[in-house]
Amino acid sequence: MISDNTIFRMEKRKPIVIIGAGMAGITAAVEIAEVGHEVILIEKEAYFGGNVIKMNNYFPKLCPPACGLEINFRRIKNNHRIKYYTNTTITNVAGEKGNFCLSLKTSAQFVKDNCTACGKCLDVCPVERPDDFNQNLNKTKAIYLPHDMAFPAKFSIDENYCRKEECNACAEVCDYNAIDFSLKENQFTIDADSIIIATGWRNYDASLIENLHYDDFQNVVTNVEFERMLAPGGPGKGKVERISDNKTPKEIAFVQCAGSRDEKHLSYCSAVCCSASLKHALNMQTLYPDSKIKIFYVDLRVSGRNEDFLNKVKNNKNIELIKGKVAAIFEEENGDLLVEAEDILLGKKSKYKADLVVLATGIVPASPQFTLNKNESGFILDTQIEGIHPIACSKKPMDVSASVKDATAAALKAIQI
Ligand SMILES: Cc1cc2nc3c(=O)[nH]c(=O)nc-3n(C[C@H](O)[C@H](O)[C@H](O)COP(=O)(O)OP(=O)(O)OC[C@H]3O[C@@H](n4cnc5c(N)ncnc54)[C@H](O)[C@@H]3O)c2cc1C
Repeated sequence: MISDNTIFRMEKRKPIVIIGAGMAGITAAVEIAEVGHEVILIEKEAYFGGNVIKMNNYFPKLCPPACGLEINFRRIKNNHRIKYYTNTTITNVAGEKGNFCLSLKTSAQFVKDNCTACGKCLDVCPVERPDDFNQNLNKTKAIYLPHDMAFPAKFSIDENYCRKEECNACAEVCDYNAIDFSLKENQFTIDADSIIIATGWRNYDASLIENLHYDDFQNVVTNVEFERMLAPGGPGKGKVERISDNKTPKEIAFVQCAGSRDEKHLSYCSAVCCSASLKHALNMQTLYPDSKIKIFYVDLRVSGRNEDFLNKVKNNKNIELIKGKVAAIFEEENGDLLVEAEDILLGKKSKYKADLVVLATGIVPASPQFTLNKNESGFILDTQIEGIHPIACSKKPMDVSASVKDATAAALKAIQI
């Protein structure tokens, strides 16, 4: 049991800094703060939730991202021991365990914390920008709420598109005086007892896999784009539409290991892509029961509860699992596609028709801007300077459940005196 005396001693220590407010960073933050330690959470985006908040739903239970994240946002909001900075990155780290000093940079914001997200500014903003939350598949105004569940629930302004004082329309209609174009970038330092790195992952650049023509054919998309295409808050508002002609695709091909386990691209397995494609196929079947799906795989790597998931797919007559690597994709004049692959169980090379091709591109580590020891694939090594703890996907590819467990383990290590 934790006594008041223990909590008092913990509060006298410097805060624990967590870099990255995805599922892992958020989990570590609430667990550390709820045992009485000060936490500072640093996020480079304007909102929390990382890659999970961008999902349509997540396996194994196919819960919407609100499930798990919303309760944690409330725990953060209600805990005075958690301080956070969004739109912020770390530029330097000096010192040692118990006595780190971090240099931080927060980009110019223009929207102050008293924004109520009422949305009045949206009606008057004359400029549009690509919606990066939806993988640039649609547009938002230059002033925008990053997404419907955004925490902090505050509008952002895209500096690259907004005409600022020259237009000033949003500032003029704001009843709360929450917009200030004179605000500047802020650089400052903070002290830390220890540091947890939870910077997670980004998608492998599909345009580097030349034979799959991601850059050339509009109806070849990545798995993260497809996640948004399925989502109720996505570009089609829950209706899956092709990019070329807004037609709902009825025949979809999934290309597994797109770049993964390939010495020319990513030499490792990203651990989650097989389960992600099975999830996408089942989601597509729920939305469009007459859709026909083919999954081209090298090996199907699913474990634990996702095995049930694989059985569901195997029992679905509209989903076909084809063991074989895709050699090439061809485009027809109407935007339809032909996928060339060898079915190695039948020993036959064929071309298969598809309205849409989804590439299961792998996970690439995202890292903070300061120097760290990494393996040859860029994942941060666990054996760092004492007091620095990389966790979850910054360390190796893993699913949400494993990320949460890893975050809890790191929280326990970080609070030790
Ligand atoms: C297509 C696809 C589908 C998936 N579907 C599922 C699923 O259904 N179920 C499941 O269990 N898993 C799924 N996963 C895996 C899941 O996405 C990860 O397990 C999860 O995102 C790991 O959380 P994380 O917090 O480590 O990283 P992330 O979610 O990547 O969060 C990292 C956070 O750190 C921030 N950050 C990055 N760099 C910096 C920096 N320099 N400074 C400050 N902040 C920074 C990011 O903005 C982000 O908010 C899927 C993966 C893919 C590729």
